[in-house]
Amino acid sequence: MATAASMVTGADKQPKQVVPGPILLLGAPGVGKGTQAKELVKLWGIPQISTGDLLRAHRDRGTELGKLADELMKQGKLVPDSLVNDMVAARLLEPDTSRGFILDGFPRTLPQADWLDNYLKEQAGQPGSNCCCLPVVAVNIQVDYTQLLRRITGRRNCPVCQTIYNVYLQPPRHEGICDVEGATLVQRSDDTEECFAGRMKTYESLTAPVIEHYRALSRFAEVNGDQPVAEVAAGIVSSVERLRG
Ligand code: AMP
Repeated sequence: MATAASMVTGADKQPKQVVPGPILLLGAPGVGKGTQAKELVKLWGIPQISTGDLLRAHRDRGTELGKLADELMKQGKLVPDSLVNDMVAARLLEPDTSRGFILDGFPRTLPQADWLDNYLKEQAGQPGSNCCCLPVVAVNIQVDYTQLLRRITGRRNCPVCQTIYNVYLQPPRHEGICDVEGATLVQRSDDTEECFAGRMKTYESLTAPVIEHYRALSRFAEVNGDQPVAEVAAGIVSSVERLRG
């Protein structure tokens, strides 16, 4: 299968050497932010920081934050900004963020976006800070509502290797079984049609303004998410290279 790198550069060539810096993947639930983040991780070797994954890890460990997040996630509601911001701040201090990172699912509100902008400015002024403090590049992935509904309700994940399948669009070779690990695939509890409606409402009211916030800054691009994974990835990579150029 073509990778983002081979789509952009040709399989026989090395990917263009960019310091990717902080990249925000924006877009509604189900546009493919997680899938695309994994493509960029393979290409650039910088970490994916998914606030949804971090919150699910808290839930699985049974922490207080995880218990609260579980309740809110089931209702399609957001976890309070200050809790998510603190969780992201702790993650950004880890050494693997020094060349950049891909934020997937954050920021999801204007206060989170303001917090992130200020946090990165502060870190840039701190001697010895490890965090990559280039200005953020934001990429909005666009997919229409009907397509999103199919993607969300059809989504199944491998609990071992985290590969994402879709029963309609990208089924595994054997129904319900991961091609790589042979594990039984699972559906996220918030990937039902009912919960999706709630998540979309939250998205329209709280997260859509975040896109306008970054559109108004100069390092912003939009990519059509209704294409094969490698083509969407190639669109993101060329946008980031152009905006970092
Ligand atoms: P995701 O995996 O990105 O779809 O996120 C799943 C759920 O986690 C969301 O529906 C929210 O309840 C919660 N969540 C994830 N990221 C955030 C965030 N940046 N702010 C608040 N809640 C979040």
